[in-house]
Amino acid sequence: MTRVFCSLGSNMGDARANLTFGVTELSTVATVLAVSPLYETAPWGGVDQDPFLNIVVEVDTDLDALAFLEQCLAIEAAAHRVREVRWGPRTLDIDILLFGNEVHDSDTLTVPHPRMWERTFVLAPLADLAPELVPIGLLEAADGEVAKIGML
Ligand code: ATP
Ligand code: CA
Ligand code: CA
Repeated sequence: MTRVFCSLGSNMGDARANLTFGVTELSTVATVLAVSPLYETAPWGGVDQDPFLNIVVEVDTDLDALAFLEQCLAIEAAAHRVREVRWGPRTLDIDILLFGNEVHDSDTLTVPHPRMWERTFVLAPLADLAPELVPIGLLEAADGEVAKIGML
C-alpha cells in the first residue's frame, strides 16, 4: 500500500458536485483515508470566472504510480464527458501531489508535484490533513488567497 495525496479542483458547472464525483470515483480505485476541508480560491485575471473549489484527498493504493495516474486521468475524462454536455471544459482536475516517498521525473508523471509548494490552494488543505508534510513558513510564503468554506 502506498499513501498518496491528491489535489482536486473544479471551477466549472457544479464545482462541489464535481469534487464529490472525484472522491467517489477515487474510492473505487483506492481506499480513501481522508478528505480535507473545502477551500474556495478567488478567481484572478479573468472576468466572470467562477471561483475554484479545491480539496486534498489522502488515499491508500496498491497501484503503482503510473497506473494510479491513469485512473486519475480516467476520472477526469469521465467528469469531462458530463461537463462537455452541460457546461464546457475543465470540470475536474486531479493532480498527484505525493506518492509515498517516490520521486518521478517525466512529462507523464512528475512527483512530488513540481508546483505544489507555491500554491496556497494546495498547501492549506494538505496542511489540514498532514501538517508534518508542509514545512513551516512555506504555507505563509505560498501564493493565492483562499478561504476555508466548510466540508465537501
Ligand atoms: P498543473 O500541473 O500546473 O497543475 P494542470 O493540472 O492544468 O497544470 P494538466 O493539463 O491537467 O495540467 O496536465 C495533465 C498532464 O500532466 C497529465 O496528462 C499528466 O500526464 C501530467 N502530469 C505530470 N505530473 C503529474 C502529476 N503529479 N499529477 C497529475 N498529472 C501529472
Ligand atoms: Ca493542476
Ligand atoms: Ca492536472
